[in-house]
Amino acid sequence: MSLVVDQLSLARADGLRLLAPLSLEFGPGDRVGLVGESGSGKSLLAQSLFGALPQGVKQIGGSISAFGTAMDTPSRARDLIRGRRLAWVPQDPLQALNPFMRTQDQLSLLPGIHLGESTNSAMARLLPLLERLRLPTDKAFRRKYPHELSGGQRQRLVLAQALSCDPDLLILDEPTTALDPTVQADFLSLMLELQAERSLGYLWISHDLGVVASVTSRLMVLYGGEAMEAGPTDRLLREPRHPYTQRLLQAAKREPSAEAGFLPDPKERPKGCPFQPRCPKVEASCATWGVWRGSQEDGLRCESKLGGVTLL
Ligand code: SF4
Repeated sequence: MSLVVDQLSLARADGLRLLAPLSLEFGPGDRVGLVGESGSGKSLLAQSLFGALPQGVKQIGGSISAFGTAMDTPSRARDLIRGRRLAWVPQDPLQALNPFMRTQDQLSLLPGIHLGESTNSAMARLLPLLERLRLPTDKAFRRKYPHELSGGQRQRLVLAQALSCDPDLLILDEPTTALDPTVQADFLSLMLELQAERSLGYLWISHDLGVVASVTSRLMVLYGGEAMEAGPTDRLLREPRHPYTQRLLQAAKREPSAEAGFLPDPKERPKGCPFQPRCPKVEASCATWGVWRGSQEDGLRCESKLGGVTLL
């Protein structure tokens, strides 16, 4: 049983497309990554998986299901899955935390709803997890409000909250942005430990190829709301086939050839492949969808075929 995204497509209320038909699937034990620049559509995808699209964005095609239940339609069954079997760590911790609730109430909220646990019972059960996340466990900390915590503490509190009901699947949206580099390294190894111990399946979303590469076994590369390339992480790192993946890799290695450039404005995106303005291999036929690009000689096997990239 898993989370299945089948040809999902998102658009603004005025019809402007933000996410092209995109498919992926992951289940318990899977470590899947989604990487791309800010504005590539990663967070919109994460929000849609949890049924939390922002105002003004709508699903115009495809479907999302988790454990056989539709996640794109409100229902009692969906409410029972969200927070219990499928949990979400949003990009902005303040989005997940209630500013008027103390730490202990934030942590015992989901166990109270889904497991019928009291605050004291939930806190006692979660104590080892808080210690592993290097969160204080004293009474003073438990009584603090989100604005009294550091950015790193808020980030780890949101993760503890997401893990509080021992979910099967987790969506992590840029979970390391508020952490300093030394804490980040600890956080990555802790996540790998927790994932293995709990057979947790996660979708790890990040702009940082170095981060997702270290914690995933499968990867999808997103650009301008389109899946560019997907496959086993080690293959993508060893032999990136798409010009944009190659560019991301150069940037991760801080190579000078990795000029930054900008994502296309959705209103001004070119016809066909969205990467055309920045692509060193661009040719006239890139404005047409549905064909494979590149040549045998240069080894390029461009995967910009609309809807044709699947996460193997
Ligand atoms: S379709 Fe053309 S422009 Fe797009 S990435 Fe491939 S070669 Fe470059």
